[in-house]
Amino acid sequence: MSDSAVFGDGTRAVRAGLPEPVKHEPTLPGPVFAAHYHLPGDPTGPYTYGRDENPTWTLLERAIAELEAPGQDDAETLVFPSGMAAISAVLFSQLRTGDVAVLPNDGYQALPLVREQLEAYGIEVRTAPTADNAQLDVLDGAKLLWIETPSNPGLDVCDIRRLTEAAHARGCIVAVDNTLATPLGQRPLELGADFAVASGTKQLTGHGDLLLGYVVSRDAGLLTAVRRWRKIAGAITGPMEAWLAHRSLATLHLRADRQSANALAVAEALKGRPEVTGLRYPGLPDDPAHKVASQQMRRYGCVVSFSLPTRARADRFLDALRLVDDATSFGGVRSTAERRGRWGGDAVPDGFVRFSAGAEDADDLVADVLRALDESAG
Ligand SMILES: *Cc1c(COP(=O)(O)O)cnc(C)c1O
Repeated sequence: MSDSAVFGDGTRAVRAGLPEPVKHEPTLPGPVFAAHYHLPGDPTGPYTYGRDENPTWTLLERAIAELEAPGQDDAETLVFPSGMAAISAVLFSQLRTGDVAVLPNDGYQALPLVREQLEAYGIEVRTAPTADNAQLDVLDGAKLLWIETPSNPGLDVCDIRRLTEAAHARGCIVAVDNTLATPLGQRPLELGADFAVASGTKQLTGHGDLLLGYVVSRDAGLLTAVRRWRKIAGAITGPMEAWLAHRSLATLHLRADRQSANALAVAEALKGRPEVTGLRYPGLPDDPAHKVASQQMRRYGCVVSFSLPTRARADRFLDALRLVDDATSFGGVRSTAERRGRWGGDAVPDGFVRFSAGAEDADDLVADVLRALDESAG
């Protein structure tokens, strides 16, 4: 595994987590469907019962660790059946009644529900915006800091290293939601975080055909509690999903490069349009997040956010797109977009559009977006 440090992103992605070649065996062994394993005598691992371990997870977990923490042999990954299962596993395994947790107030739309649940267990929750490292101001006395950068859907960015140093100085552990960036965009553990957590449902796997989550850490003690939580909650990944996810990782670098180039092209094209306001993409040199993003990110992701003047205009725009599906989620090889306000969970304008650039040809995608803008003007 330590070899992984010397290779580039593409080489690591195509080889991530693969076992040593065995004659007559496939490169990536197929999914193992097993509720239990033959287990004569003392019940020792690794494989005893399907809720605890599965060989298909093991390979995927190694692969994700090689991408999130290349060369850090002490990094371990636990996979979960969704991003929310991974997020809940970290928060509910680490926090106790009376603890203080700091969350972003502009993060993933299910975080307010998580907040309610934490508060129901007597955990104090403070929130602050992602922009301008505002979470720094509410850290005193906190046990856990939750960072989401870039934030979904507003695409604000905070300085992971700076926040982590401030948190650690106060004895506070740090988890970073790395969903938008993917491990090829940003590696939170190298920036000091205790946990990298993500939804693998989005760009990591990139085909819009499965849900997945993961937690990576180099701290065995912290991970023991997360593993115990996975067992208690029974939050386990199907072997088929784990295998599909692993297969998808082989193209992650191709998809990430292409999709971030397409996102930049779409953002550049939108910049010139008078009806577009609040345009955000951390890869745009004049984006307010660009400076911090360029210090900690190697790719800026596939999501572009902007607003059209009204809800009706945004709906007409989405209708007029031919190459972009009106769908939630993001990160897939086919472009998607949605009017985010339709869910009601985010503090965004009515005409706010979250656009996820796929792997189409940039010229085709940009032409489709500009034509849909023109057609929706009426
Ligand atoms: C989608 C998403 C999640 C939740 O992941 P699921 O796989 O849908 O459970 C968490 N965080 C961010 C930033 C997301 O975009």
